[in-house]
Amino acid sequence: MSSPLMKSKRILVWFRNDLRLHDNEMLVEAISKSDAILPVYFFDPRHFDQLGFHRSSTMRTNFLLESVNALRQSFQRMGGDLLIVQGLPEDHIAGLVEQYSISEVYHHREVAPAETQVSANVEDRLWKIEVNLKHFIGHTLYNKEDLPFPIKDIPDVFTQFRKKTERDAIVKACFDAPTTISFVPNEDWGQLPALEDLYSGTLPGISSGTANLKGGEQEGLGHLRDLLKPDSSIYIKVSSRNSDPSGYISQLSPWLSTGCLSPRMVYWTVKAAEERYGSNANFSNLILGLFKRDYFRFMFKKHGVPYLEHTTDAAAPVVDPILEASFEQWKRGETGHILVDGYMKSLAETGYLSGYGRILAATFLVHVIKYDWMKGAAYFEETLVDYTAASNWGNWKCIADSVSGLKSKNGFDVDKHLKILNIAAVA
Ligand SMILES: Cc1cc2nc3c(=O)[nH]c(=O)nc-3n(C[C@H](O)[C@H](O)[C@H](O)COP(=O)(O)OP(=O)(O)OC[C@H]3O[C@@H](n4cnc5c(N)ncnc54)[C@H](O)[C@@H]3O)c2cc1C
Repeated sequence: MSSPLMKSKRILVWFRNDLRLHDNEMLVEAISKSDAILPVYFFDPRHFDQLGFHRSSTMRTNFLLESVNALRQSFQRMGGDLLIVQGLPEDHIAGLVEQYSISEVYHHREVAPAETQVSANVEDRLWKIEVNLKHFIGHTLYNKEDLPFPIKDIPDVFTQFRKKTERDAIVKACFDAPTTISFVPNEDWGQLPALEDLYSGTLPGISSGTANLKGGEQEGLGHLRDLLKPDSSIYIKVSSRNSDPSGYISQLSPWLSTGCLSPRMVYWTVKAAEERYGSNANFSNLILGLFKRDYFRFMFKKHGVPYLEHTTDAAAPVVDPILEASFEQWKRGETGHILVDGYMKSLAETGYLSGYGRILAATFLVHVIKYDWMKGAAYFEETLVDYTAASNWGNWKCIADSVSGLKSKNGFDVDKHLKILNIAAVA
């Protein structure tokens, strides 16, 4: 407790892809180490469109708006609010620090180059006014210091990464959601922008969207609870609803990518259900997905930008009008291949595609059309409601790196998937 003579300590909590109260170490520490916190969210124009190129579909932006608004409402219920700013964090943060007499800024570290650059820019601005930017890690099952190897020695082969990590490291318990928070007093907390405020020019394709998926922490927790009810289809080995041939589909990804759900919370909730009702293939599949998610983030961390460089001829970036036309047909779901077209249309309409659908659509673009995988990945980046840099670019690279006749070091078998595509009826 600070005495009236002491200068009170205020921490600015910069929210990014961590829009939750539960299992949020950054928030818990900010509350315990300060007299008051100022939670802030920036609607960064670079996330929506850049140089006339739309970087996020309206479906993803809607999900984000719902998620930010839900966090704001959670803070309002606790007597505070979330400060909403439209603009670049690096342009505003030093001004906020001065305006609200902030002593320190907390945020979660990201891994993709564009995201880490924003942190570096903010850190530079804060450095000039002698304020510290403290980094937290809250997007993975395992913190990097919990891994049984330094980042530079993380195995590049997924199965080795998982085996060693599962054997030698533990998934920590979740942090409890705070029940009381002291907020920095403030008059104007800013408006939640409308969709139109976030895009210059015409809005990118509006469609009905992922009808039953709504952004926000409580929505995500509710979805997880429903999944794990004993009468839910997750308890059936191969369910007829919400399933694809590779296993059960949880559709948890949009909440995980916005940080409305923490991966540790999902992990421990699934483990508790397993304990209670016994293990099954669908539970295992879900946990496997969480490990893959960690793996792709750590690969980004380990290799940085070179990780994304072309490594096979399969992705030669040729500018050819026929290829360009084929790419456009792929995007519209008009390749003539029934299976691929169904997936691509569904992606455009709902912003969601099962893992199986993503693999087949990407395999078709890279290994059948033989188009530049990076442009395919950029299209997914724009369209997916659950877009996450490390998962999207990492999975695409895995497919692009695979060569016919050889199983890739990550077990991706391009021939198996080409066979599935050939078996499917071609219109
Ligand atoms: C070409 C391609 C692009 C992809 N782009 C993204 C992306 O932008 N964002 C994204 O979250 N996932 C991406 N994935 C991974 C995966 O397809 C999705 O996470 C998954 O389909 C989401 O549906 P779900 O929540 O029902 O997954 P489930 O199968 O129920 O899995 C549970 C969770 O595990 C994680 N997960 C599962 N599989 C993977 C995987 N292969 N890689 C990384 N994480 C995984 C996800 O967070 C998912 O929500 C991509 C996969 C491919 C092949």
